[in-house]
Amino acid sequence: MDHPRGGVHYPRSVGEFQAWFPSDADCLDYLEWLRWPAGFVCPDCGHGGGWRLGDDRFRCRGCGERRSVTAGTIFDRTRTPLKVWFTACWLLATGKDGISALSLKRVLEIGSYQTAWAMLHRLRSVLVRPGRERLAGTVEVDETYISGAEPELRGGRAMGTKVLTGIAVEVREPKGFGRCRMAPLVDASGTSLHGFVTDHVEPGATVITDGWQGYHGLAKLGYVHDRRSQRAARARGDDAGELLPAVHHVASLAKRWLLGTHQGSVDDAHLTSYLNEFVFRFNRRRSRSRGMVFYRLLELAVAHDPVRYHELIVSRRPRAVPPVPPLRRGHPTSLERPPANRPWRMSQASPSG
Ligand SMILES: [Zn+2]
Repeated sequence: MDHPRGGVHYPRSVGEFQAWFPSDADCLDYLEWLRWPAGFVCPDCGHGGGWRLGDDRFRCRGCGERRSVTAGTIFDRTRTPLKVWFTACWLLATGKDGISALSLKRVLEIGSYQTAWAMLHRLRSVLVRPGRERLAGTVEVDETYISGAEPELRGGRAMGTKVLTGIAVEVREPKGFGRCRMAPLVDASGTSLHGFVTDHVEPGATVITDGWQGYHGLAKLGYVHDRRSQRAARARGDDAGELLPAVHHVASLAKRWLLGTHQGSVDDAHLTSYLNEFVFRFNRRRSRSRGMVFYRLLELAVAHDPVRYHELIVSRRPRAVPPVPPLRRGHPTSLERPPANRPWRMSQASPSG
């Protein structure tokens, strides 16, 4: 939906959130409406229309297959109650700094750290919308070393090697920043940097970089290349570190977030997904409502293929302990019932087809 409205399509406050989703069934209704706003469409054969069965599944009118609302989404075959998922989504989307796996485990009284960790990683994996627009206008580009792990916290072990990361930030006139992108780089060669720029910046944009040779040739790729020489800045008596203020601002926010909210516990193998979360929240920092960000997150989650646990284990040391189902407790009772005129409640009232 292009223009979802607060209080109608998404909750505007934590009070509304609690009132709208007192049970797993309410969460399921909402997911059904998000996934099939115009009624059931079969994920197998693409046929529209079907019957809702007693067990919350649909039977397709075309091929006869039975499909649940969550099948083929990020919530596929989850053993975690949807209420817990929704609260995790709310905290991830509406918290100024999101939430760490450790805090999520405590707040929701989830049985194991691994379950909380895997939930947040499944949610992070949906944040990059397929076909999203590249940055445009005037864009600062630079590369910097980022580490999610703080070496001192790791007892001096060889964790926390730093990852070279490309950063691109839109610069607004007369001042201020637009959207940003961050992604790990193989190295600082021209091939890597040109790839980063073409992946994340729309041709025709003005790209501001420092004098590093890896950025040579951007003009041939269709960009207006504005090179700022550190040597020239020093010769003018300017601060060479302030040539690219936007990327330095965003880099320091990201580093502070990794070491603050996540206490430097991010291993480098998962750094990309944390950077995606940082970028997702940064680019929506001026959303009219935090509830809108929650809505966008769930919209992406129901449109995303399932992510299996083994796909999340990208580090070299797989976890031996499987996820444990969380305890079914820990939610405050809501103060008010949700109004009956929500769009997904109307779709529920009349079986589609
Ligand atoms: Zn079908």
